[in-house]
Amino acid sequence: MSKTGDPARRARLATPGRDRPGPVVYWMSRDQRVADNWALLHACNLARSRQVPMQVVFTLDPAFPGATRRAWDFLLAGLAEVEADLRGRGLPFHLLLGHPPQTMAQFCKKYKIACLVTDFSPLRHKRAWMAEVAATTGLPVIEVDAHNIVPAWLASPKQEFAARTFRLKLNRILTDWLDEFPSLEPLPATGPLPPPVDWAAVAAAVAGARAVTPVEWLPAGQAAAADRLRRFVAGPLRTYALTRNDPCLDGTSNLSPYLHFGHLSPHRAAQAAGAARVPDESRLAFLEELVVRRELSDNYCLYNQNYDTPAGYPEWAKKTLALHAGDRREHLYDDDAFESARTHDELWNAAQRQMVRTGKMHGYLRMYWAKKILEWSPSVAEAHRIALTLNDRYELDGRDPNGYVGVAWSLGGVHDRPWGQRPVFGTIRFMSFGGCKGKFRVAEFIARWPA
Ligand SMILES: Cc1cc2nc3c(=O)[nH]c(=O)nc-3n(C[C@H](O)[C@H](O)[C@H](O)COP(=O)(O)OP(=O)(O)OC[C@H]3O[C@@H](n4cnc5c(N)ncnc54)[C@H](O)[C@@H]3O)c2cc1C
Repeated sequence: MSKTGDPARRARLATPGRDRPGPVVYWMSRDQRVADNWALLHACNLARSRQVPMQVVFTLDPAFPGATRRAWDFLLAGLAEVEADLRGRGLPFHLLLGHPPQTMAQFCKKYKIACLVTDFSPLRHKRAWMAEVAATTGLPVIEVDAHNIVPAWLASPKQEFAARTFRLKLNRILTDWLDEFPSLEPLPATGPLPPPVDWAAVAAAVAGARAVTPVEWLPAGQAAAADRLRRFVAGPLRTYALTRNDPCLDGTSNLSPYLHFGHLSPHRAAQAAGAARVPDESRLAFLEELVVRRELSDNYCLYNQNYDTPAGYPEWAKKTLALHAGDRREHLYDDDAFESARTHDELWNAAQRQMVRTGKMHGYLRMYWAKKILEWSPSVAEAHRIALTLNDRYELDGRDPNGYVGVAWSLGGVHDRPWGQRPVFGTIRFMSFGGCKGKFRVAEFIARWPA
């Protein structure tokens, strides 16, 4: 049995500020759960040691660019569960609507907050919000990595160029970081609870592409996430090494939406997989994706400011793509043809329809899908833009470091190496329809997703 973890190990002072007496706030953002949340645990510990109240705040921007009804629906259902859980523990939860740094700063002023704790994200919008709140309030902002098992800034101090180098670093220290979660002890001085959130009013207030409808097959929230983890570990994990790359089988965990919205702690998922009685090859294959690949994505976004454009690609990839920029494209499609799955390739169209209808394309096909967008677009910049736009509009796990890296890996060789020369791709790894036919029952997959 590993030792109980100290949340302070996962915290760092993001911005120093004037310390003064007053309540502590946990500004919940990326990790939308009560269970197994190092940031919440850290905020509670700070409040306890200072003998002050602790409040949880979620700042919601109803005009968040590109957000869809599908994503809002998942997010709000998860937050409603967070609120109910916190209320049951006598802990206040506030939902603030508006421009996040502004509403957060107003809240800090109103409640005379002394210190802000927030969960870590490497993405620029959250880092900009944090900087803005710190500048307006002058408060210290502490960030806690509740999303990675090893805090991203400790796992590596620089951008890693391949999974190989990152895996070595991570594996050396991982056991020490897979410590047990302490329980969330009640706080002495929480004060009166705020009025309950009117979730129907919030749902009405959020904008979002109505055409992108919510999904029903995957219920949101920490309880559903824990249930899916339990069922995956008891079932498909056993054969994961053999079945994960077959889009006709339900061989993967489907945990990515929960991990993206923070309904599930990756640390908890890794503990569960680590303790499962399954063949080593399956356990290790799953931990490779869940831990090494996922945390490598945070590493890329943390240290590469161009994580969502071709400017972030490695030099060898930029060079080879530039050399092939003028190559003739056999097929060219615009945004609309891609979005409405009107290409000549029925496998590509079926994968696109799976994503549009369910909010989750199978992981193996995501690589094929993105690489074909490169092959059928006038430039790599266009291909990158189209792939990310569609990914972030339809995937429930979109707008995630994994997505930024997935697209950059497929189109721009990020974390990959040069392969054989091909038109358009240069030495970027290529995937073909024929190759897919050798791996899984392509016709069956196409038949499942008719136009
Ligand atoms: C073009 C492209 C776009 C992608 N877009 C996203 C995205 O928007 N959001 C997202 O979470 N993932 C994305 N991925 C990575 C991967 O495809 C998904 O994480 C995976 O398919 C999710 O399904 P699952 O939870 O059933 O995976 P499982 O196979 O059960 O894996 C378990 C977990 O490991 C992590 N993981 C799995 N594969 C990868 C990977 N290749 N890189 C990093 N982490 C991984 C995920 O957190 C996943 O939930 C993308 C990959 C590509 C090639």
